[in-house]
Amino acid sequence: MGVTLDLSRAAGLRTPVKPNLSGLTRKGLVEALIAAEVVRPDKAKMRATQLWRWIHHYGLTDFDQMTDIAKETRAQLAEAFVLNRPEVVERQVSKDGTRKWLIRMAPGIEVETVYIPDVGRAGALCVSSQVGCTLNCTFCHTGTQALVRNLTAGEIVAQVQIARDDLEEWPSPKEDRRLSNIVFMGMGEPLYNLDHVADAIDIIADNEGIAISRRRITVSTSGVVPELEALGNRTQAMLAISLHATNDALRDVLVPLNRKYDIATLMAGIRAYPGLSNARRVTFEYVMLKGVNDSPDEARALLRLLKGIPAKINLIPFNPWPGTDYQCSDWKTIETFAAILNRAGYASPIRTPRGRDILAACGQLKSESEKLRASARRKLAAEDSPET
Ligand code: SAH
Ligand code: SF4
Repeated sequence: MGVTLDLSRAAGLRTPVKPNLSGLTRKGLVEALIAAEVVRPDKAKMRATQLWRWIHHYGLTDFDQMTDIAKETRAQLAEAFVLNRPEVVERQVSKDGTRKWLIRMAPGIEVETVYIPDVGRAGALCVSSQVGCTLNCTFCHTGTQALVRNLTAGEIVAQVQIARDDLEEWPSPKEDRRLSNIVFMGMGEPLYNLDHVADAIDIIADNEGIAISRRRITVSTSGVVPELEALGNRTQAMLAISLHATNDALRDVLVPLNRKYDIATLMAGIRAYPGLSNARRVTFEYVMLKGVNDSPDEARALLRLLKGIPAKINLIPFNPWPGTDYQCSDWKTIETFAAILNRAGYASPIRTPRGRDILAACGQLKSESEKLRASARRKLAAEDSPET
């Protein structure tokens, strides 16, 4: 893989950019060290292992703190490379402990990342894989934004590093972690950016670094069937499927990608997902839309569809956004739907909404805070010019 990461674009287009080492895979790191002639090729692997621990176990962003590397070498490294994080433009903490960061990867390239406590083993980080999305799921706010671009592996890893900085989890703890799980449920369709997502997972899961086990990393997809097998083989990540409907006519509307890969094709792809077992179940996400997909009949249809697949179900109360025609199902309707699934042996299927006060819920990422910032700017402008 190339060593010039978009992370450094912020430095300006005319200045030659130094590669950022913190977003490279182990292989990429070795190659970058050789290409920059900082080490002899026969020593590159050893040096990369040493750097890897400083970068991914200790979370360092400064070569000068790498005390077991000769001062001269540290200076050479700093001459050729950078380690800095992208800029955190905004940070919010919810009443319920949810944290949200708006991160500027490069000018005009901003994504949101959300930390949700008490999810998974200890707490989950919801990361973005793209800026915007090419798919247009009708209930999703991200779907109304055009795709700006794929994030690089470094930009995906940077979201984890920034959360770790904020949670003060360096050096990478083996136990009692606050950040224990990663979910690719932020902005974008991860399977349309699989190369970078897979590299990012290699970095995040590495045992001598951030060391979040692949079984605690979940990739959510709207159903890009041809990439499912590659996802499983390359990442061994847990799979989540955004199903949302039990018949093609409705799913064609809610998740338009269904017109390309219908429910039968999707279910066949899921059954073939590498490594599926009772210990490694697929999560089916189902957003609860009032009067659209929330009847008891549909709960029963869902059960029929999932028969024989090691599965968990996540009912997501719909998070409304300005301009949407959808509404969230009533609580009682959600409970009735959940009870049918419960009776069939699916435990605690309702996902409690978190971080709503800071607009950190699913499908609300980025655009809302952009809007708020725009309205704050307008307010400031109005205060600055009272005569108008
Ligand atoms: N593109 C991927 C991952 C990002 S979306 C996918 O679609 O799976 C993460 C989850 O949030 C998906 O299940 C998506 O359907 C859901 N979601 C999107 N908008 C939502 C909203 N407004 N309310 C509730 N869930 C939403
Ligand atoms: Fe894209 Fe997922 Fe939103 Fe659909 S639900 S528009 S795939 S981010």
